[in-house]
Amino acid sequence: MVEPFVPLRPGEIGMYNCGPTVYDWQHIGNLYAYIVADVARRTFEYFGYRVTQVMNITDVGHIVDDADAGEDKMELAAKREQKDPLELAAMYTRQFIIDRHKLNILDPHVIAKATDHIAQMIELIRRLIEKGNAYVASDGVYFDVTTFPGYGTRLNAENPADREAGARVEVNENKRHPADFALWRAAKPGDLQQWESPWGRGNPGWHIECSAMSMQYLGETFDLHSGGEDHLFPHHECEIAQSEAATGKQFARYWLHVRFLRVEGQGMHKSIGNTYLLSQLEEWGYDPLAFRLLALGVGYRKPLDFTRAGMDAAQNRLVKWRRTIAEACVATGGRMTEPEPDFGVRAGFVNALADDFNTPRAVAAAEMALDLAGSPDLAVRERALWLLFDMDRVLGLSLRDRASAADDLSVDEERLFDERERARESGDYAKSDQIRADLLTKYGIQLKDTKEGTRWERVRPKGA
Ligand code: AMP
Ligand code: ZN
Repeated sequence: MVEPFVPLRPGEIGMYNCGPTVYDWQHIGNLYAYIVADVARRTFEYFGYRVTQVMNITDVGHIVDDADAGEDKMELAAKREQKDPLELAAMYTRQFIIDRHKLNILDPHVIAKATDHIAQMIELIRRLIEKGNAYVASDGVYFDVTTFPGYGTRLNAENPADREAGARVEVNENKRHPADFALWRAAKPGDLQQWESPWGRGNPGWHIECSAMSMQYLGETFDLHSGGEDHLFPHHECEIAQSEAATGKQFARYWLHVRFLRVEGQGMHKSIGNTYLLSQLEEWGYDPLAFRLLALGVGYRKPLDFTRAGMDAAQNRLVKWRRTIAEACVATGGRMTEPEPDFGVRAGFVNALADDFNTPRAVAAAEMALDLAGSPDLAVRERALWLLFDMDRVLGLSLRDRASAADDLSVDEERLFDERERARESGDYAKSDQIRADLLTKYGIQLKDTKEGTRWERVRPKGA
């Protein structure tokens, strides 16, 4: 059932996206979750809301196991790579932001690092202890789930009974109830990241980070909280319990959980070797925005199956869109006309987005606009262009840049292009292949050798 979205304050929306744990490269599954969050933000903005988007960076506290017994992922990575955890965090964060930009994901208004918010977490834990929802044990501070009726059942995830039956329950005799979860963990010898607290040196639990940071920037109640489906339980159920227990108020009004991206029908696992990075897609010759288009074509409630055939189709589709738009721009001399709000395709697009961010239907509306962009009637084409550029405010495929860019090769690109022509003429195919690869990876120029000579196509915006 789709219910109307009613923000806390008219015209404004506060949204919080659970951000990456920066102990490793973010793979295309992770990036997909941020494309979905970006589309949600852009949709709200398209509908005229003023959005405040907050995303955290988890650089401490995310434990390998859902039970509280495992090691901190950042600690493990720091030991694996023999680096300082914050240095590692900075490196993976930087790459993550670069990948986001390639995918046209807008920067959140606030990017909050967990290690910059330890004081806020300590304060929240203090409140919970004071209210009797948390207790101090010898190895940290735990949230007492028996004090929060309905713990674990708020998000209609899996039935808690099934979950318990299937779970590997680690016995920790410091907990009063096996389901109690850590808010603060006492430092273990050799912990690289640890802070002073009223309960001794230690580090925060992962869940408390997101509660503390979201409430810091968005208030105790805010509109939308997002994450991947793996966060339904325990992460988000824990966030709800501890936030609402502390404030006595509703925490997030709406939740958005992205179904996981799968690769060729399988879950992503390091052991299978299918945790692809965006750079791998680029090496295969794909435009990152083709991945964005692929993502838009499914919708966040259905699992997205990433396949090479699907990516080929998305890439071809994007190239075709760009070509049609560029031709329409030439034909109309760049003129555009705004169609009436009830113009069929326009209304179809708006209704699709308003229906639980139905991006597949929105993309279908864009395809209809593309058909119109190929019309022999110039007036129709002008309307189609207006529609497409308007839709791109949400789709984020850089349609306008591509169409309007005076698409000449830059001096450097031209030099390489000519050098390759000479290499080919002299039969130095190793060199010509190398230059072809460089043009693609460094400049986003794809070459096609045809009977009429070498043709080029820009698959990434100039300078990106
Ligand atoms: P992590 O860095 O593991 O905390 O994950 C960052 C974000 O990516 C979280 O919101 C996860 O839920 C999400 N995520 C992880 N794997 C996938 C996947 N295969 N498909 C979609 N989202 C994912
Ligand atoms: Zn979170």
